[in-house]
Amino acid sequence: MKKILFVTSEAHPLIKTGGLADVSGSLPKALAELGQDIRLILPNYQAIKRSENVHYKSTLRVNNYDVNILETRLPGTDVLVWLIDCPEFFDHPGNPYHDEHGHAWANSAERFTLFCRIAVEVAMDRAYLNWKPDIVHCNDWQSGLTPALLTLEYHRPATVFTIHNMAYQGVFPSSTYQSLNLPGQLWNPNGVEYYGNLSFLKSGLVYSDRITTVSPTYAKEIQTAEFGCGLEGLLSFRKDFLCGILNGIDMEQWNPETDTFISQIFNDKTLSQKQLNKTDLQNQLALPVDPTIPMIALISRLVEQKGIDLVLECLPEMLDMPIQFVLLGSGHKNFEQRLYNFAESHPDKISVNIGYDEVLSHKIEAGADIFLMPSRFEPCGLNQMYSQRYGTLPIVRKTGGLADTVVDAVPQTLADNRASGFVFNEATPGTVMEAIKRALILYSQPKTWKNLQANAMKKDYSWHKSALQYLKLYHRL
Ligand code: ADP
Repeated sequence: MKKILFVTSEAHPLIKTGGLADVSGSLPKALAELGQDIRLILPNYQAIKRSENVHYKSTLRVNNYDVNILETRLPGTDVLVWLIDCPEFFDHPGNPYHDEHGHAWANSAERFTLFCRIAVEVAMDRAYLNWKPDIVHCNDWQSGLTPALLTLEYHRPATVFTIHNMAYQGVFPSSTYQSLNLPGQLWNPNGVEYYGNLSFLKSGLVYSDRITTVSPTYAKEIQTAEFGCGLEGLLSFRKDFLCGILNGIDMEQWNPETDTFISQIFNDKTLSQKQLNKTDLQNQLALPVDPTIPMIALISRLVEQKGIDLVLECLPEMLDMPIQFVLLGSGHKNFEQRLYNFAESHPDKISVNIGYDEVLSHKIEAGADIFLMPSRFEPCGLNQMYSQRYGTLPIVRKTGGLADTVVDAVPQTLADNRASGFVFNEATPGTVMEAIKRALILYSQPKTWKNLQANAMKKDYSWHKSALQYLKLYHRL
């Protein structure tokens, strides 16, 4: 049995802004089910949803701050969670990265440096918790200083650093580094310095014993200039210590046979029941009720990464086709406005829902026929897996985790029952349209479509499989 400290800035259902929270909520649970002693550490934000008891454990003084460690559990599990309580930094309205008005926290570097320092104290068993991990598993830039600081300790635990998205790096001016009172020996171009700035992500990549990312294809892509966001050189230098492990999904939360958010449960044997979810959604979103019209859906942060601009360019042509288009998301105001404009001029074909809505996201996955995910890059992506589980066939770009989880419908894969969606290469409106047209042709052949849905719904995306791979990696350390 391994003792693992899992360092993360968000974990579902305590606090979530994106896919990192999904992983941090599920992977520790799966590792615990494999008999591992895993504990989470995350900041005690005001926005955390506390449904289990919270106990005071200890108080530390670090870099002139008094910090309390509180203990709770990941809701619905036995996994212990340590909340780093420093009200000055974390007891404010907003999310982990932005204040309540959507502005990035001005003191993000200070907040997460303190977080990393406390993680080191816990990892070295100096936090009065009477527990020392074998492995410290860090995630994304917010935890990036932890492996660096641990290299300065004797008898330190081994470290793993997982990249969930290279695009967010935690880069701050060198003056910030000085004000943070961090050890001088880390400040050099082979350390935390990145072209004269402090980079939290680089710190994690340089100093951790092993690096992982969330899909095998993304692990290769980030070693190239197109996807490496400036760190491709470092990543190819460390390629022998880098691997990709595909994320799983929460198979209980995303299960069309038990989902309480949807109006009609179904499985691959009762696919005709899926239609009722479409009707329900059409009613709810004030679209014409028509069980036969193909419904294309998109749920996403509305940012360039996700190819929203490509979709906007496709919409005029899509509007000439017999389809309905349903979108749920929030992000750049410019994208939101342009989407609203389309919805206003074509209320009978397009439903645009701006905001974050978990219940609606389940209803869309259950009701739609096709899911559009034309991401420019996608470290793993979750919605294409949820979609397949709900028989809603994804159209994806061949990149990152999308390439690893969707099998393109071509004669060969259709014949051997592997096809589970539609895959295109280039990030252009023309290739997206081509893939949509291919999907619509097969949609018009109910027997083939049903086979595709059944293939997609049978796939195993459980965390168990991924957790076994992480465990193997821990044992190698
Ligand atoms: P990323 O982490 O890059 O945003 P992922 O696909 O890995 O993308 O994870 C996004 C998660 O957030 C998924 O669980 C998705 O369903 C959810 N999500 C994104 N936007 C919304 C929204 N507007 N409403 C509800 N859920 C959303």
